[in-house]
Amino acid sequence: MTYGLVWFKRDLRWHDHAALTQAARDGPVRCVYVVEPQLWLQADCALQHFEFIRESLQVLDTHLRTLGGCIEIHTGELPEVLTRIWHEAPFSRLYSHEETGNGFTYARDLKVADWCKTTGVQWQEFAQFGVVRRLKTRKLWPRAWEQHMASPQLSLSTLTFWFSPAQQALNLRAPTHLRHDPPRRQRGGRLLALATLHSFLNARSIGYRGGISSPLSAPDACSRLSAYLAFGCISMREVVQATRAKMESLPPQANRHRAGLSAFISRLHWHCHFIQKLESEPEIEWRNMHPGYDGLRENEFNQQHFQALQNAETGWPMVDACVIMLNETGWLNFRMRAMLVSVAAYPLWLHWRPVGEWLATQFLDYEPGIHWSQLQMQSGTTGINTTRVYNAIKQAQDHDPQGHFVKRWLPRMRHVPHEWLFEPWLNPLAEIQNAKADREVMRPIVDTQAATRLAKQRLHERRRDPEVKAGKMAVVEKHASRQNSNRKRKTSSEAIESQKQMGFDF
Ligand SMILES: Cc1cc2nc3c(=O)[nH]c(=O)nc-3n(C[C@H](O)[C@H](O)[C@H](O)COP(=O)(O)OP(=O)(O)OC[C@H]3O[C@@H](n4cnc5c(N)ncnc54)[C@H](O)[C@@H]3O)c2cc1C
Repeated sequence: MTYGLVWFKRDLRWHDHAALTQAARDGPVRCVYVVEPQLWLQADCALQHFEFIRESLQVLDTHLRTLGGCIEIHTGELPEVLTRIWHEAPFSRLYSHEETGNGFTYARDLKVADWCKTTGVQWQEFAQFGVVRRLKTRKLWPRAWEQHMASPQLSLSTLTFWFSPAQQALNLRAPTHLRHDPPRRQRGGRLLALATLHSFLNARSIGYRGGISSPLSAPDACSRLSAYLAFGCISMREVVQATRAKMESLPPQANRHRAGLSAFISRLHWHCHFIQKLESEPEIEWRNMHPGYDGLRENEFNQQHFQALQNAETGWPMVDACVIMLNETGWLNFRMRAMLVSVAAYPLWLHWRPVGEWLATQFLDYEPGIHWSQLQMQSGTTGINTTRVYNAIKQAQDHDPQGHFVKRWLPRMRHVPHEWLFEPWLNPLAEIQNAKADREVMRPIVDTQAATRLAKQRLHERRRDPEVKAGKMAVVEKHASRQNSNRKRKTSSEAIESQKQMGFDF
């Protein structure tokens, strides 16, 4: 008798796990997670991702042990690890979720497919989000998303393991070269994912509308599910269905709560909408979505600007405070992520790829499909989105009017008089006050207005180029959303916030 091998990747759960459910229906199973040394050498990997996975695997293993099995950890490259397992005990079927990952995982999946063909192993892959492999046209996408989200969740009825688990509990050590594990990041595992969903649906989502843009309120008002979705501790379908059920259970007068949940559901669409872009065109991880923007910034990369950004030394208090918060917690809200990238792309004129590599290691919830699409969108290289240039001073005035956020994360700002908090360099007494404390006056590393004006000019010049204009339709056809009808029903402020997040030209 043979067995089915279930290969866990970024799907670290047991409930609504299509690969595990199908394997369990077909016969005995063996569950594996493979630590791939080459994958962890990629520039977008950080220690925080590994540790989050380790915590999630720990919870998964504990659960599988209650069912009589465990998750086996194997270390090595694929498909060599599969060969090793196969020689130890041949299996006839391999089960996994489809992964829209980085270039490395894309190439590795091709090798695994070849290996399966050669050895005669049948590889069954399952969609885990509303992302469609080999999608013919974007027009079909909204219906496919809805079908996936409305279909029943999968639970395990019987699960037979191929052999009893080893006595020793899961032992997983991070590769020693990995760096960066923020002290205050979220911890991994399905149990915490469920608790986070519960607190969001039942309490925190009341503050979602109106609370998600300020970095002060966002840590509570946002769902904080992104890392759990990125590593699959909870399924997207579970989240969508639980949210819809909560909305139905609300009394008619709970308008604010309902509106928050409705706005949240649209973000869940966006999650898959953005990943679909990378699924349909994996090259956007490296090259501009619209080739008309090639060469715009690539050859002028200013290493000093980049270092100042990474070290929270740009001189814009809001930007530097965000970098410090991100470094400490592994998370930032959408608006502040967009502002960081916008500052990098416009006044600092940095190409999105190195900035994106750095941010990938900073974001605990790094999800390649969302990440690279957003990096390009906020940098103006998609060709189909409005150029949205966030002014770091205005963002501070709008979203941190009392300066609580800036003072919390940038201790040196605690002594700056309130009226100069967001532009301390304008304070006529700054030199004297800072000299007393033996510090330099904080000022932006570039002239904000002049640098932004020049950046906009250069981008708009490209945009006006007839060839660039002509190339736009191909990008729209491949990547643009087809969900405009929903927007008509939204109030104007919701529509504006949505437009800002999606950034489409209307
Ligand atoms: C430059 C940049 C890079 C980003 N990189 C990532 C990333 O690597 N991984 C990631 O999950 N999100 C990314 N985002 C989107 C967004 O900032 C995060 O999803 C959000 O801040 C996560 O917090 P939350 O789960 O509390 O969000 P909520 O507001 O509660 O949203 C719920 C879920 O919807 C999805 N979502 C929310 N906003 C967006 C959006 N604008 N685009 C696509 N999906 C969205 C996420 O899955 C999120 O978990 C990025 C945004 C920008 C501007």
